[in-house]
Amino acid sequence: AKSQGRNGFQFFDAALRDEIQTRVRLGNELRAAIASSEISLHFQPLYSMPGNRISACEALVRWYHPTHGMIPPDQFVGLAEENGLIHDLGEWVLRAACMEAVDWPAQVKIAVNVSPIQLRNPRFLSIVENALACSGLAPHRLEIEITENIFVQNSATNRDILKQLGRIGCSIVLDDFGTGYSSLGYLRSFQFQKIKIDRSFVQELPERSASGIIQAIISLAQSMDIPITAEGVETHDQWAHLNDLGCNQVQGFLLGRPQPSDMIRQSILSHA
Ligand code: C2E
Ligand code: CA
Ligand code: CA
Ligand code: CA
Repeated sequence: AKSQGRNGFQFFDAALRDEIQTRVRLGNELRAAIASSEISLHFQPLYSMPGNRISACEALVRWYHPTHGMIPPDQFVGLAEENGLIHDLGEWVLRAACMEAVDWPAQVKIAVNVSPIQLRNPRFLSIVENALACSGLAPHRLEIEITENIFVQNSATNRDILKQLGRIGCSIVLDDFGTGYSSLGYLRSFQFQKIKIDRSFVQELPERSASGIIQAIISLAQSMDIPITAEGVETHDQWAHLNDLGCNQVQGFLLGRPQPSDMIRQSILSHA
């Protein structure tokens, strides 16, 4: 039993060591990739409802690794948050997104995902201001998407940076609504310009419980004058339900997948 335990331990030890080595290697490769063509942005259209026009596009980061191929953001954004690279990666994303959007028709906004760790950077406001100034993008065309996680500590610092971003004209969007922190207090402590219902609810439509939750979120948002976006719309049935419930904007594979910049330009030209 003793040797088994030791073997077990050694096996675990080796697996852990391998995993740490892989993460360190991937982290180093990500550092080198940020300034290179391995990292790029795709853009997914958001459609107004009613109207069915593209009113915004969300920038989604992509990593084409020379040997591993496409690594999804869920796998490297977390790594970048752990090793601090999220600051450089996030700054690159903001600049690239603004540069892209400045060439679109002026009514089309650009939504950029920002990690809670980026918001804690004292330089964050000036990073955003620089991205806007360098690209020439009007601040009201930039939407900053954050998740409920930043309210886990409902700190004054968090509210301050959001207020400052609002003051320079950017919109703040509450992303993945309904999945994270359960208190609704932060909805009163900060005025969001938009709330995005998480796709886990949308994908259960037309189930009655999901429909009830979405209806409740929409009436809550309406009572506070905040427009609602639904993400992850994959079927026409889901789209029709959201339309009936009074949702303001929709995003999902049904309407358009994330696509490279030349393709999104084509989509915008035919739907803006
Ligand atoms: P998110 O912000 O919730 O982005 C939406 C994700 O849902 C995207 O995945 C998109 O491709 C996917 N999606 C859109 N429509 C549908 C649909 O109809 N069905 C399904 N099944 N999926 C749909 P993606 O691009 O893999 O990004 C995953 C997450 O990675 C994002 O979730 C976001 O949290 C994070 N992320 C992506 N780009 C960035 C970035 O530049 N910075 C930061 N901090 N995070 C990012
Ligand atoms: Ca998002
Ligand atoms: Ca989301
Ligand atoms: Ca998400």
